[in-house]
Amino acid sequence: MSTAAGAPIALSVIAPVYNEEESLPHFVREITEAIAPLGIPYEIILVDDGSKDRSLAVMTDLASRVPELVVVSFRRNFGQTAALQAGLDYSRGQRVVLMDADLQNDPADIPRMLQKLDEGFDLVAGWRKDRKDAFINRRLPSMIANRLISMTTKVSLHDYGCTLKAMTREVAKELRLYGEMHRFIPAVANWVGVRIVELPVNHRARQFGTTKYGIGRTIRVVLDLITVRFMQTYLVRPMQVFGLAGIASGTLGFLVCLFLVFEKLFFAEDIGNRPLLLLGILLIVVGVQLLSLGLVADVVSRTYHESQNKPPYYVRTVIGSSAATEQLEPLRAQSTLRPIA
Ligand code: UDP
Ligand code: MG
Repeated sequence: MSTAAGAPIALSVIAPVYNEEESLPHFVREITEAIAPLGIPYEIILVDDGSKDRSLAVMTDLASRVPELVVVSFRRNFGQTAALQAGLDYSRGQRVVLMDADLQNDPADIPRMLQKLDEGFDLVAGWRKDRKDAFINRRLPSMIANRLISMTTKVSLHDYGCTLKAMTREVAKELRLYGEMHRFIPAVANWVGVRIVELPVNHRARQFGTTKYGIGRTIRVVLDLITVRFMQTYLVRPMQVFGLAGIASGTLGFLVCLFLVFEKLFFAEDIGNRPLLLLGILLIVVGVQLLSLGLVADVVSRTYHESQNKPPYYVRTVIGSSAATEQLEPLRAQSTLRPIA
């Protein structure tokens, strides 16, 4: 960990590591070979996600020889997404590249991705056009997941599962990753309003170690997809989702019960043993529950936005002078995207 004091770091390469002892030396060498020719100050951040093999020892050894290397070591296994978030939190680069440490992503693709950033894009997503993984339990579920994510998030990419991504610091700063969220980075970033481009990248078969995932990941991805969809559309006003459903359910229940009352009063029908009565009451109760859930969710969402001082918008640029560009005290501390000069 040593860059000349004060020299700004142009690039942070971040990779999560879980039991990759054999790949690591090759990984660090390949990164160095790909980036050193660019002649920019950079750092490699490896996040040890509670590895049970000799990964940490290997990284410690590498760090003593490679000055660009930073190793962040977790106390236990928190998962790939948490590891990526930690990498982001500890990174200092003006640009950030995320990738796997298992050599499946090719560091030689990095310069091309940086070029795309130079062209003015904020986020470059890798597309494993010719993916080298098993078909039945990896590529097939991932094809389905890709279609699903593409339809629900309305950001059309071919490959959401590819970790290899490059982005500007301003985009990286806005990411809060948890669960299986790292594959929704384009969707989350899109909400902020960034320019996204997809770039076909090289994908290689796993040379060392084994994959850490099975088919179970698909289910977790789908659950997270629901969260992302919700966050994207209704986080600002959850009452509009729950309230609408609550009103619909409550009204229907009310009408059902009204019908029954009508029957009782005018036709003297016995309604005590009618399944319809149960349905009517159920719909009313569910309606009330949904409405109150909407209220609670609204309060929670307010707390979420206000505690993080997150405005409900993101500014790309301000033209002319305003409180935020002059040295007046702006009403709210802005943390958002870089104005494009
Ligand atoms: N990984 C991690 N924590 C985990 C599982 C995986 O940090 O709990 C890392 C792993 O070391 C690798 C990357 O995440 O660098 C991708 O994992 P893997 O190659 O097993 O996934 P696949 O490529 O098979 O989808
Ligand atoms: Mg892999």
